[in-house]
Amino acid sequence: MRVRVAPSPTGLFHIGTARTALFNYLLAKHYGGAFLLRIEDTDKERSEKKYVDNIIDGLSWLSIAHDETIVYQSLRKNFHEQLLVRLVEEGKAYISEEQAKDGSGRIVFPVRLKVTDSEVVWNDRIHGDIVTPVKELGDFVIARSIKDPLYHFAVVADDADMHITHIVRGDDHIANTARQILIQQALGYARPQYAHIPLIHNSDGGKMSKRKNAIAVTDFRDVVGIEQEALINFIVFMGWNPKNDSQDEIMDMNTLIKLFSFEGLQKAKAIWNEKKLHWFNREWRRKKSIDNTYRESICKCIKDTLEKRNFLIDEKIISGICNDSLERHHTRQELESAINDGVYDYLAPTALDQYADTLLFNKNTLKKETTHNILVHIQKIFSSSPTLVTLQNEITELAKIHGAMQVYWPLRVALTGKEKSMDPMSVAEILPADIIQVRLSQAILLCK
Ligand code: GLU
Repeated sequence: MRVRVAPSPTGLFHIGTARTALFNYLLAKHYGGAFLLRIEDTDKERSEKKYVDNIIDGLSWLSIAHDETIVYQSLRKNFHEQLLVRLVEEGKAYISEEQAKDGSGRIVFPVRLKVTDSEVVWNDRIHGDIVTPVKELGDFVIARSIKDPLYHFAVVADDADMHITHIVRGDDHIANTARQILIQQALGYARPQYAHIPLIHNSDGGKMSKRKNAIAVTDFRDVVGIEQEALINFIVFMGWNPKNDSQDEIMDMNTLIKLFSFEGLQKAKAIWNEKKLHWFNREWRRKKSIDNTYRESICKCIKDTLEKRNFLIDEKIISGICNDSLERHHTRQELESAINDGVYDYLAPTALDQYADTLLFNKNTLKKETTHNILVHIQKIFSSSPTLVTLQNEITELAKIHGAMQVYWPLRVALTGKEKSMDPMSVAEILPADIIQVRLSQAILLCK
């Protein structure tokens, strides 16, 4: 098996192309074949070097490694010309003389393929048998001139020259396939197997358009902070499922290579579900955090974001935010926004801004007097416990007597001024002892 992905560098590397690349890569690795990369840069006006770089960057970030050297279509003009000349010499195509369609009155010399078939019958591994009538195509143009092949011609020539055996691509190319098969036949090439994968649709059912939903793959990395494993995991399920009973949706590349096959490819349209992507990402962040280097990279991001806010840089604070973020946040962007929105400001070693007493009593579900007594008790525990462990044990004991809500709720509010925060005992680990005393006194005063 030899497969390829053939992106046109006319825009940033987007999810649709990443998925086509991934599917081809997985097929090649599963069946023991080769995965090739061809840059279709023949459109001189719209192709740009920066897009080529972006495609290569995106593929390499996703660990979708191509075998063999990259083929640049624009460097193969001579080869294309030779083939065109051969077709004309064999009488399978001809150079026609006609007026340009642009109304300029210019005379042009396109190469047209002689079409004698009335239909093309071909089989698609996903869509089954397809019959395309081609009579009305007439002798269609395959090159603007003998030196300037059109897209369909170059694709067919290059696929054959690269010995591609299976063409797996988006189903927007179904409409091109009959024409490409006619060119193939004229050139005397063997027909590869085709598999057209359903395009990705928005959750509202419309097709994802490059213009409207153009989030570049590298933006998922650089802006949103999506892990490459999560993106791979997410896109693989758009158009494929492993057809086994396993409940575990988290799969790394090696697992995917084992499971991926033609049989799992789906005909139903693939639906984009951003929530699912974020879910995958949170799972992968947690999974990866066992690795120290990964944890350090999150800590570095926390440090940089805190620094921009002129926040105190302290190892305990950074590590505390890191633990909390791994529980709570789906993406690096969520983490950065939380810091920037002041969600963790309670970790700064100062007294808290005044908060409402109703917060302390959980909208009056807790009694003022009991809350007061408990906070006084907690304050004593904090000032007398020799170690963190004894402190924790004593607070746990207190919670057993009065109920977790009656103990941990006011403790959380006293230490953070918020109804949602990281777990109060973790906050207590981070804050200096004198600040904890100040905040507890602040809360006790509110009970008066
Ligand atoms: N260059 C085409 C595209 O970017 C792909 C051609 C093909 O896969 O046959 O859509």
